[in-house]
Amino acid sequence: MKNNWVNFADIRKRVSIEDVLLKFYRLENLHRDGKKLIGPCPVHNGDSPRAFHADLDKNLWHCFSKCQGGGNAIDLVAKKEDLSIRDAALKLQAFFLSGEGTRDVVKPTAPTKTANDEGKRSAPTPSDDEEAPEENAPLNVKLDLKGDHPHLIHDRALKPATIERFGIGYCSRGMLRGMIAIPIHDDEGQLVAYAGRRLKPQDIKEHGKYRFPKGFKKELVLYNLHRAKTEAGEHGLILVEGFFSVFKLSEAGLTNVVAPMGCELSDSQARLLADAKEVFILFDGNDAGYSGAAKAKDKLAPLVPVRIVKLEEGTEPESFSPQALRWLVNGMSRLDIADISFSRRRTEVKSPAL
Ligand SMILES: [Zn+2]
Repeated sequence: MKNNWVNFADIRKRVSIEDVLLKFYRLENLHRDGKKLIGPCPVHNGDSPRAFHADLDKNLWHCFSKCQGGGNAIDLVAKKEDLSIRDAALKLQAFFLSGEGTRDVVKPTAPTKTANDEGKRSAPTPSDDEEAPEENAPLNVKLDLKGDHPHLIHDRALKPATIERFGIGYCSRGMLRGMIAIPIHDDEGQLVAYAGRRLKPQDIKEHGKYRFPKGFKKELVLYNLHRAKTEAGEHGLILVEGFFSVFKLSEAGLTNVVAPMGCELSDSQARLLADAKEVFILFDGNDAGYSGAAKAKDKLAPLVPVRIVKLEEGTEPESFSPQALRWLVNGMSRLDIADISFSRRRTEVKSPAL
């Protein structure tokens, strides 16, 4: 596979739809109407003069004719050239962001032209920031936690080194009082929140197992990504549902593990995985896990190679021995297996990868 690394966030931020249309494709038949470029659709190569609209503020395009759809700049290249999202992004990255003279990737659709179009030059660099991307602000308080709490040591049987590595512990004051607090970092390693794991059965019944701070956008973060991506080396990333699967797999020697903190992978979380070499989906063996895994696979498939493991009903990743887990991950990769059912008794390969 290509080992090329794609920075989707950077491409979205720095490559405007305007530049893709006017500089990358050098289209000459679009006309400007306020903050829009309008013309025949370059994606399906139509000739209806108003079929295609590009909104330069939002950095989005739409075709009202044959395509009946639209998207961002990466989608445009992917659709127009029938490429995967990843390959389209690589192309834009090479053209706009690498600066290493890969300009020969351009295939002008219009006759090559003298760089100056009718006086409407787009600014040399786009960064007219589309609505500032949402993010979680870094947290500047650090909780004082007790790592040797019986829930962690006895109930969960975590090793002290694991507790220390992930910085988790019992919280005796504030919002997370009486809970196990788990620090959450963004992909750059900045502390952005603490999740609280409730311990009292009555509280769990009333409020659920976890408490996340108000305003925290869980869907923008993948738990443990900042550690996992440095540990992944030439391996892929393993996607589990929750914190404790991350801890347990880490104890099994699998440190390249991330979690969406639930069984739903958001679009933002999917994009955070796009740089991985491959992604193993290893959700819990129950209905929510099965359906969450199938949806996650659909989201990831256009971005990155995906392998999916269906665990036996009633099991979680941590139900299996460290050896079994390592065998599973390494074996799937080595044998190029895309889809496997895994139980404590037998293993069934569903479909080999293409
Ligand atoms: Zn079209």
